[in-house]
Amino acid sequence: SNMEPQLLSLPPPPRVLIFPFPCQGHVNSMLNLAQLLCLSGLHVTFLNSDHNHDRLVRHTDIQARFACYPGFQFNTITDGLPVEHPREGESILELCFSVNSITRPLFREMLVSGQFGLVNCIIADGIMGYTIDIANELGIPIFHFRTISACSFWAFFSIPQLIEAGEIPIKERCVFVTTEGNEDMDALVKSVPGMETFLRSRDLPSFCRCSDVSNPVLQLVKNETQQSPRARALILNTFEDLEGPILSQIRTQCPTTYTIGPLHAHRKTRLAKHATNTLQSSSNSSSLWEVDRSCMTWLDQQPLLSVVYISFGSLAVLTRDQLIEFWYGVVNSKKNFLWVRRLDSTPGNKEGESEDIPVELVEGTKERGYMVGWAPQEEVLAHKAVGGFLTHSGWNSTLESIVAGVPMVCWPYFADQQVNSRFVSEVWKLGVDMKDLCDRTIVEQMLNDLMVERREEFVKSTAEMVGLSRRSVSEGGSSYCNFDRLIEDIKLMSM
Ligand code: UDP
Repeated sequence: SNMEPQLLSLPPPPRVLIFPFPCQGHVNSMLNLAQLLCLSGLHVTFLNSDHNHDRLVRHTDIQARFACYPGFQFNTITDGLPVEHPREGESILELCFSVNSITRPLFREMLVSGQFGLVNCIIADGIMGYTIDIANELGIPIFHFRTISACSFWAFFSIPQLIEAGEIPIKERCVFVTTEGNEDMDALVKSVPGMETFLRSRDLPSFCRCSDVSNPVLQLVKNETQQSPRARALILNTFEDLEGPILSQIRTQCPTTYTIGPLHAHRKTRLAKHATNTLQSSSNSSSLWEVDRSCMTWLDQQPLLSVVYISFGSLAVLTRDQLIEFWYGVVNSKKNFLWVRRLDSTPGNKEGESEDIPVELVEGTKERGYMVGWAPQEEVLAHKAVGGFLTHSGWNSTLESIVAGVPMVCWPYFADQQVNSRFVSEVWKLGVDMKDLCDRTIVEQMLNDLMVERREEFVKSTAEMVGLSRRSVSEGGSSYCNFDRLIEDIKLMSM
């Protein structure tokens, strides 16, 4: 019949090139996005750094997770740093610069020379704003995906106004003052629209604490974030019920902003709908470290809601002094705890000091605690023994905690985390915020507030947010519908 040739010549599904910044939290969430696109029938090329790809393959069954999607492929590119570079703590700045100077021209070259085949659209990590110029030059439609919260994106976006108003840089004399009474740091910030009534100087991103505006991190974040309105759309790993008012602000600058999170939960809903049993049972790990599952057996033996889970994510590096303060605070609080200590996560010790922890603290640990180098965090947070999370307020960790209904003690380390922790404590009331304070009595008091004194309040607020977060990624929910619109958008522009 007449129909047949037409059917045969149907074009293949659009191919989307996904390009994350090479860090754990970025790779995590963009892999979840990749899988969602695959489940919608799109073809996906995922561009990892060589370094991260080796680690991913070594520590997970990532190949098996994506093997069932015929149009999926991994490609790799250098991040420009030598293998032995730590890629954590302050040195993450070097990664930003090498990605900008070395990876950037290579990325363009790979696209130009057709190494990815035909690419219908690019979804790039918005922290690499330069991807817009390359995509525009080559006539490829581009979306920006940000792995951070809407609230911190908006604070980043407002940096020019903050500078204009003289609200940043926050003078260096304030930086190391950690007493609560420091008025400069407690002053309300007026130049981030929508946050005038609760955002204080101390809640601004850590890189705003610098001697002058030429600070390279401040400039980098400012310049990259300003690019996003030039993208076809902005995609955020958040949901309307969580950040609606701030999203309205963002949409004045980036009118097409798709909220499709929490992505880890969204992926699960879609997978349950689409997939066969084999697919569902495959692991979801995208860890760059080897996961130590022995902590799950330990958790099984702990009383209901008795354990505080302690993790500062993949990048934070604690000084020995900070580690000791946390240790005393946790042990003195007499709470059970599961503590993630990444290998090498406390370098920079003062000369002559060993990494050794005082004997009495190690004893305190044995009694009530368990330590691992890297945990299966999503599973840990979902475990019935876990009743609290001492976190650095990274956005993935925050979302994972929200979906699991676990209240938080926040100790933000850098970048977006200072803003996140303010929202957790003041806006969403899902926990308490230590901010710059790292003192054993504060740690003890905050854990007590979370697990005992203010327990009821937090049980109520976290339960409400669990409901809203799960609804958003269920059929008919805001993130679910937004994702369907995003797919339509990609298909339309690929025709
Ligand atoms: N994570 C994990 N095991 C750990 C610690 C962290 O799987 O022991 C995961 C965590 O679930 C989250 C990610 O690592 O998805 C950390 O991302 P986040 O945005 O919270 O912080 P970042 O590492 O970027 O500072």
